[in-house]
Amino acid sequence: MGKIIFWLVVFFVVLLMLRLVNVASSRSRSRSTGKRKTVEAAMTRCVDCGIYLPSADATTSARGPLCGDPQCVARRSDT
Ligand SMILES: [Zn+2]
Repeated sequence: MGKIIFWLVVFFVVLLMLRLVNVASSRSRSRSTGKRKTVEAAMTRCVDCGIYLPSADATTSARGPLCGDPQCVARRSDT
């Protein structure tokens, strides 16, 4: 009888450990997806050529964010 209780305890300890590993891995997974979301939020779109670029690289104008692409700058000065 004592042997059965011992194996039951071992079984539940193993289940508990598997659960802890699952929680830890899912927590790190959600952290990485959160990171990806902030990267997407940091992207902006040039109002002239419509290219997507990091908002840190974009220059803001009265019309909206602008890229530093030479072709786009040339097009901008033409009009
Ligand atoms: Zn542009």
